[in-house]
Amino acid sequence: MEHKIHIYNTLSRKKEVFEPINSPNVGMYVCGPTVYGDPHLGHARPAITYDILFRYLTHLGYKVRYVRNITDVGHLVNDADQGEDKIAKKARIEQLEPMEIAQFYTNSYHDKMRDLNTLRPSIEPHASGHIIEQQELVRKIIKNGYAYEKNGSIYFDVEKYNKKYNYGKLSGRVLDDLQSNNRELEGQEEKNNPFDFALWKKAEPEHIMRWPSDWSDGFPGWHLECSVMSTKYLGEKFDIHGGGMDLLFPHHECEIAQSTAANGEESVKYWMHNNMITIEGQKMGKSLGNFITLEELFTGNHKLLAQAYSPMTIRFFILQSHYRKPLDFSNEALQASEKGLERLLTAIKTIDTLKTSEKSSLDIKNFKQKCYDALNDDLNTPILFAHLFDGVRYINSIADGNDIISSADLQELKETYHKFVFEIAGLKNIETNAASNDKLESVINILLNTRLDAKNNKDFATSDKIRDLLSEAGIIIKDKKDGFEWEIK
Ligand code: ZN
Repeated sequence: MEHKIHIYNTLSRKKEVFEPINSPNVGMYVCGPTVYGDPHLGHARPAITYDILFRYLTHLGYKVRYVRNITDVGHLVNDADQGEDKIAKKARIEQLEPMEIAQFYTNSYHDKMRDLNTLRPSIEPHASGHIIEQQELVRKIIKNGYAYEKNGSIYFDVEKYNKKYNYGKLSGRVLDDLQSNNRELEGQEEKNNPFDFALWKKAEPEHIMRWPSDWSDGFPGWHLECSVMSTKYLGEKFDIHGGGMDLLFPHHECEIAQSTAANGEESVKYWMHNNMITIEGQKMGKSLGNFITLEELFTGNHKLLAQAYSPMTIRFFILQSHYRKPLDFSNEALQASEKGLERLLTAIKTIDTLKTSEKSSLDIKNFKQKCYDALNDDLNTPILFAHLFDGVRYINSIADGNDIISSADLQELKETYHKFVFEIAGLKNIETNAASNDKLESVINILLNTRLDAKNNKDFATSDKIRDLLSEAGIIIKDKKDGFEWEIK
């Protein structure tokens, strides 16, 4: 590869040169959504972060297999659930099939991700479609001596594992601390140790989502699906595993323990974690009243929002911050992004109108290299945009007659912007109201000319029908001697 990329590996806690195991093939796994609720702001950041990585690696010529799972088996993630599966609970309240709920929110997630212009992963495996493989991994871990059975549930033996391997290597947590910090959770008394985690849980009678197994009718532990589906589609050793920082512990730590306990070595070469989003300095949470869904963000329909924000404004806003830094949402910050994006997109349109000279007053090759350097340095999108805005000043200065550019450089400048802004950063031109009004106007004129033709051919049925339908749609036609006029009611 022409470009050498450095990415920060959470496991080694430093930036490393990215060298795929089987270059140019790259295997990349990202923890996907749990589909029992509306897609929200918290979904946008990982989706966009790993979308940029996917797009950039593909742009550089890597063949990327991007796997992102759908968690649809509904897991017990905290003690508030009191033994009730999340999807099942919703299904009972809304009287739907659990899989209908999961499908509904999966569709909704896909719609919102499309709005944000994220590319679909190469494979999107569902946890519910991999129960057999998950049971197989449990059997393997039991066989290797790192799991035990209690009343039909199977738990991972963290203490035994830690004697041979290192539990906590990713998160930096030490077992002794975990021991003293553990809260009493539901079903805890079953485990040998509070920090042991479930590989298989026996289902309570009210639990709808359940599968038969060697041990009980039950369901897999949450961490299991990612260990299973990543290695099924990417091989026992693969390149990148990504997710939000909130998943680092226990989810990813447990994934490492499971894979190592089963295979004797871990699966992932580079662990990547995006930082979290806060809202006016606070963590987002339903109980805090600052929980914002993507739908609310796109429509402005939330008490904390001063206006609607387009998906591209959100995308640009997220990319203006480095993925490993916390990102704070506020109306002021979003409004600034909206303006910035407009300035950037306008400048790209201006490129087409620039007059060329013999020479250029900016080194375009160097400018392009700086854009690559920014992304090669652990996907530093804010630095990339800083360079692109330097370029915007240059473009506007050429338009004002204060700078010059040669025709070859102009072509290269245009390509550079298209490559970085549209292809890699995945931004799109926003259709303005003026542009859509123009389109509406031409469509109405086409219809009215068709009506005029019908009238001239004495096909009054058709001409009346067009008039009536337009009238129903709120468009009033006034016939004139030499044609027509129309207005919107
Ligand atoms: Zn996961």
